Amino acid sequence: MIDRFGRSISYLRLSVTDRCDLRCTYCMPQRMRFLPKPEVLSLDELDRVASAFIRLGVRKLRLTGGEPLVRRDVMVLVERLGRHLASGALDELTMTTNGTRLTEFAPALAGAGVRRINVSLDHLDPATYARITRGGDVGQVIAGIDAAMAAGISIKLNAVALRDDNADHLVELAQWAHARGAELSVIEVMPLGAVEANRIDQYLPLTEVRAKFAERWTLTDMVRSTGGPARYVRTNEGGTIGFITPLTHNFCGGCNRVRLDCTGQLFLCLGNDADADLRAPLRASDDDALLDAAIAEAITRKPEKHFFDHGVKAPAVARHMSRTGG
Ligand code: SAM
Ligand code: SF4
Repeated sequence: MIDRFGRSISYLRLSVTDRCDLRCTYCMPQRMRFLPKPEVLSLDELDRVASAFIRLGVRKLRLTGGEPLVRRDVMVLVERLGRHLASGALDELTMTTNGTRLTEFAPALAGAGVRRINVSLDHLDPATYARITRGGDVGQVIAGIDAAMAAGISIKLNAVALRDDNADHLVELAQWAHARGAELSVIEVMPLGAVEANRIDQYLPLTEVRAKFAERWTLTDMVRSTGGPARYVRTNEGGTIGFITPLTHNFCGGCNRVRLDCTGQLFLCLGNDADADLRAPLRASDDDALLDAAIAEAITRKPEKHFFDHGVKAPAVARHMSRTGG
């Protein structure tokens, strides 16, 4: 699948639910309105649409949410999708999770062929973690990370850089990750969906974060292309740190991804409303011809770049990150 800017679309992020067992303050409001259940695709439908993307050229599939591990019977889907790894049609099946249920699911995920998982962890202090996530238990997440590593899954930690909550903690978080053989990626908060806090107050530019890391380590830029907004450095102690800066445009030219929410709505760019409904063609017939045509048509409309601006108070995009996942 090649879009009109010559970009090859080889990466699908599939949100299997928009529901979550946490309520991170930067992600969603306390009283979140979730998508209506009848609109949510069944596991069979998610498998069918993901398999269509793989047939059309997707080589990397990331399951996300909401929290993917709260979707009932999600392992049925993961195990089924594992067939595409076995056949060689898919290079990688990964997941982004908050880690609260990893102790339970890590062995089965490894068994299905999942080799790498991103775990979101913004703070190691139990009280601060509970405040950021509105009730999460960091001990449970750490136990989940240990369980995943014991199952042979490599872990990348994702932390959102938050001016008031973890600006002074990210060096410690990186040290903690590196001591366990994990990478840490730091993410700039994006203006996606309304939350109680003011986004401008939450926003901590990664230039400041990088400067703090540079006080602790000598950082060397790494050459690693992911087709995404991440840039990586290696510390003089051998640890890897990623900087995910979606607010700058410099990566859109190499963007290789699209996102599907759990109702079958395809988003062509994280920072843009361009979308396509895949549920109607999916449900219109058992044959995949309509679905394939809808995907092909949508790819021709992938926007050139996104527009985020923390200078305006309204969210750049009304939908929350929990709908499309990360
Ligand atoms: N629940 C899973 C988790 O937390 O990893 C998967 C979905 S979550 C929406 C995916 C990632 O998006 C997490 O790393 C989270 O920290 C990040 N995220 C959520 N809201 C964000 C925002 N407004 N700006 C930047 N990152 C955000
Ligand atoms: Fe849930 Fe992930 Fe959003 Fe936190 S960031 S509320 S864990 S979906």
